[in-house]
Amino acid sequence: MEVALVGIGKIAVDQHVPAIENSPVWELAATVSRSGTVPGVQAFTDFDEMLAQRPDIRVVSMCMPPVPRFAYAQAALKAGRHVMLEKPPGATLSECHALIALAQKHRVSLYVTWHSREAAQVAAAKAFLADKALKSLTVTWKEDVRRWHPGQDWIWEPGGLGVFDPGINAMSIVTEILPDPIHLTQAVLEVPENKQAPIAAALSFYHPQGAQVSAVLDWRQGGDQTWTIEAETDAGTMVLLDGGARLMIDGVEQSAAGDLSLLQEYPSLYAKMAAMVRAGESDVDLSPMRHVADAFTLGRRELVDPFFE
Ligand code: NAP
Repeated sequence: MEVALVGIGKIAVDQHVPAIENSPVWELAATVSRSGTVPGVQAFTDFDEMLAQRPDIRVVSMCMPPVPRFAYAQAALKAGRHVMLEKPPGATLSECHALIALAQKHRVSLYVTWHSREAAQVAAAKAFLADKALKSLTVTWKEDVRRWHPGQDWIWEPGGLGVFDPGINAMSIVTEILPDPIHLTQAVLEVPENKQAPIAAALSFYHPQGAQVSAVLDWRQGGDQTWTIEAETDAGTMVLLDGGARLMIDGVEQSAAGDLSLLQEYPSLYAKMAAMVRAGESDVDLSPMRHVADAFTLGRRELVDPFFE
């Protein structure tokens, strides 16, 4: 299957290009980017030109930040192409719903990807929780923004999500592994006085069986980085570590079926996209983004020290 990558920046180069190039199914047929290219691949700077000149490319994968993404995704769907969206799938829930309707209208596949759901131990964590009564679930997502997002001014702007850019990955795992739906009840957003988006957040959720569900996100973490989800149940405790790559159950490390690293995430996304295109299906779960949108709606803003990179 031929795919065009749009927005040749950090995630395209780090993950999408290697996942496509190492796949027996996919071929990187074109890139669209104002500045980025991939050696040996036809490069366009104008998206409409790519759509017009390469009608043979049936799949387009969107790797630019969320705010500009809608216009590109809309044009691709209207041109009858199958579309993969990086997380978060858009700047607003409404524009994501508009894309879902367009994909249905044009009978093409739309994949709202959540790469963290493909981490090695997420499926095992889901299986562990499936038949147990949850007592508590705690997300701790603490990383150094200077290390992971250097020079990404868009991430601090409206629609960039701030600390929810990684935090939505945690919510994508939580919504995947919990058997019961939750919803946000309280949030505190710490916003640097010179930025539009939060640098830290604390969230509490309603759980239908009364379990305590909470999340702490922080971008000011030096030293060791923490991407952990800990759940206590009536029949043991599980801890998902390293963004879902590792799993401890009652203190015992579980061995993974696949690659222990996070490198399997993007190959897995592309394998699922290939299957969806063949089957004429879509996967458009917006629940991680709904929780983040709720945090922006309900969250109490606290101004904190200005942030300078
Ligand atoms: P990035 O490197 O800052 O940007 C990606 C590319 O998007 C840029 O190189 C740029 O290419 C294009 N772009 C930026 N603004 C644009 C605009 N207004 N219109 C059209 N194109 C524009 O960002 P990234 O880290 O790759 O993140 C992109 C998406 O991937 C985000 O949604 C992010 O949440 C997600 N993601 C990132 C990571 C990560 O580790 N960085 C991990 C997983 C997912 P041109 O200027 O050359 O056109």
